[in-house]
Amino acid sequence: MSNVANKACKECSFVSDMDACPRCGGETSREWQGYLVIIDHTKSDIAKRMGITANGKYALRVR
Ligand SMILES: [Zn+2]
Repeated sequence: MSNVANKACKECSFVSDMDACPRCGGETSREWQGYLVIIDHTKSDIAKRMGITANGKYALRVR
């Protein structure tokens, strides 16, 4: 139950504890699986592929 306090944005997958995404203002959900941490989005191919333009923690799948 390590993810119980975290929510992921349905729009951009950014993980936070907020009801609204602090990055894009989108709705967040507790129903998400897996995550990746982007430390330097300018050097990450995954970040480019997912359209991630800020460092942080992102869910791989949000329901
Ligand atoms: Zn968002």
